[in-house]
Amino acid sequence: MSFDVSPRDIPAVDVLLKNSAIEPLVDGRERGQIVSWIRDAAGKVRNRIMTVPAEFDSVAAVEQAVVSEVLARADSDATTSLQHVINATGVLLHTNLGRAPLAERALSKMREAAAYTNLELNLESGKRSQRGERVMQLLCRLTGADAAVVVNNCAAATVLVLQAIAGGKEVIVSRGQLVEIGGGFRLPDVFASAGVFLREVGTTNRTYIRDYESALNELTGAVIRVHRSNFYQGGFTTEPSIKELVECPTLKDVAVIDDLGSGLVTNLQSMGIAEPLVQGSVESNADICMFSGDKLFGGPQCGIIVGKKAWLQKIRSHPLMRALRCDKLTLAALEATAEIHLEQRAFEELPLFQMLRRTELEVRSACESLLSEIACNEKDVEIVSSVSRIGGGSLPHVELPSFALSFGGSALQEVASKLRQGKPAVLARQANDRLLVDLRTVMDHELGSLASCLSRAFA
Ligand SMILES: *Cc1c(COP(=O)(O)O)cnc(C)c1O
Repeated sequence: MSFDVSPRDIPAVDVLLKNSAIEPLVDGRERGQIVSWIRDAAGKVRNRIMTVPAEFDSVAAVEQAVVSEVLARADSDATTSLQHVINATGVLLHTNLGRAPLAERALSKMREAAAYTNLELNLESGKRSQRGERVMQLLCRLTGADAAVVVNNCAAATVLVLQAIAGGKEVIVSRGQLVEIGGGFRLPDVFASAGVFLREVGTTNRTYIRDYESALNELTGAVIRVHRSNFYQGGFTTEPSIKELVECPTLKDVAVIDDLGSGLVTNLQSMGIAEPLVQGSVESNADICMFSGDKLFGGPQCGIIVGKKAWLQKIRSHPLMRALRCDKLTLAALEATAEIHLEQRAFEELPLFQMLRRTELEVRSACESLLSEIACNEKDVEIVSSVSRIGGGSLPHVELPSFALSFGGSALQEVASKLRQGKPAVLARQANDRLLVDLRTVMDHELGSLASCLSRAFA
């Protein structure tokens, strides 16, 4: 017996809102949102009725189809909501996961500043103060610079600095440093959008101080050195150091800008990682140095500009500053992170540094305890050595020896998808038909929930 289905069999919105599967969704959500999901779902089901009516054998089936569509929308809404993700990729500064995880001290400072806070008020005098005054002082103490300014990210810092210092003029840069820093942000385009003219000098692999000197003319506004933070060059290469640029007599009247990108302030030499320190650039007398707050600084997303007072004053008073300045929560997290570096407690308190410092043995024993805790049917699982990376466009040549649980099996895509959509969400690494759960980037307190997530995904 065939059922004659028609779009009129789709229940009204009011009826669907009372459906026992949909009604609970209203709890904690705006009703208008659910209504719009219902309308979209009804539209989809109407199309199905028009094209493949045989799909439906009863009025109940029509209603059920609409309900399923609405529930799928609710699920996908939940997965797009910002939430905790366990990072089992082994990539420390995972750009898709928000780069550096924040320290507890940064979180409590953010909580404190979330209410009313003395963002631009000197509590002693009762007068207006510089925004985030103490943060700027801490950044100066930390880097040795005279003055500091903080904006949204290092990309914003680049645009602001170029425009404020050299707007309408030429900026000299080595060909070997014309980088793309990710997200399609390419230096030549940045120059154009900042209203400065790019004056490329040297060649891809070799640039000499005399190349800068001969490019100098009355239109020169600045010289910029861009740290190759996301790639490396080897072999037959030369480029002047920031110190050589600063000390070159011919260039003495133009600003020397150092775009450091990764922003290391706590030495990693003990771990065999050589990366220029911000303090080194400041000490070399660079006029302006800029770097990201959420790369090797281990703090919130922001762009930190430090340098000589007169230049920084020019930057601070540029109209773009108002558009690029960051909010009180960022400044609060940054203040706490800077304090931690100043107290030389990065390895104790900053999650990024804790993960960097973990020994292979520690990661391996975390793997062993995780393995003993997961209850899964998948027999094809073993502990393997793995290589963690810094990521986030920093230290591309650094490989951190690590360990991972390696899962085999036939439905790994499905398992990976279940893990991503679980609570908490888990992002693992897929390589050569194996699913790798690298524990260098998993904090100890996350191991319990990771075990349950894995058990569920493989159940
Ligand atoms: C990462 C990077 C930037 C951009 O920093 P964001 O904080 O991501 O905007 C700029 N310059 C260099 C050299 C970088 O490495």
